[in-house]
Amino acid sequence: MTRLLIVEDEERIVSFLVKGLRAQGYATDVATTGGEGLALARSGSFDLVILDLGLPDRDGFSVLRELRAHDRRLPVLILTARDDVYDTVTGFEEGANDYVTKPFRFDELLARIRARLRDSGLPADITTLEVGDLALDLRTRRARVGERWVELSAREFALAEYFFRHPGEVLSREQILSSIWGYDFDPLSNVVDVYIGYLRKKLGLGVITSVRGMGFRLEKSRKPGTE
Ligand code: CA
Repeated sequence: MTRLLIVEDEERIVSFLVKGLRAQGYATDVATTGGEGLALARSGSFDLVILDLGLPDRDGFSVLRELRAHDRRLPVLILTARDDVYDTVTGFEEGANDYVTKPFRFDELLARIRARLRDSGLPADITTLEVGDLALDLRTRRARVGERWVELSAREFALAEYFFRHPGEVLSREQILSSIWGYDFDPLSNVVDVYIGYLRKKLGLGVITSVRGMGFRLEKSRKPGTE
């Protein structure tokens, strides 16, 4: 799932963005200060940042400058009420990839997000994710195991996609829960284990292995019948 970081302090705009972007299938996280936003942006878990300029603790430009000192690639879309030429030029000089001024239309923002994700070579144009002899078709939302196609429910597909985008990486229950089910979900819930059970039944037992005390991993090469 594509993850977007929203760095914005205005509650009304945050809820508008979160609602709209989630409905489009993006995972979203929110930071309401520049400091928090910078820390999250540097965590490496996001595909794009939407950055407000007028933040309570620091200017969005300084957040962008500091981020760019370490990360040249992460797409940053500036969202701001300031629309004069000076700010636009400064934004691009500091390394912004795009600029949207408030008030904005959601579909315009969405089009720009999609375009910037495409530029960065991220998901937009990829239609199949492959790991070993498994494949996940992002259009039909089906999985292929060897030569066999299997149907996945919406939740199974979201979980499978998350694993396919992090092959060979150990993903913790908390990580999976917050990415697929959202942060409001009860952390003690066993829903992750239940759905991993469903995926194992459909994709093969050795596909997703349990890493004791740490989480789960999609194996890059399949070990049939292993746990
Ligand atoms: Ca603001």
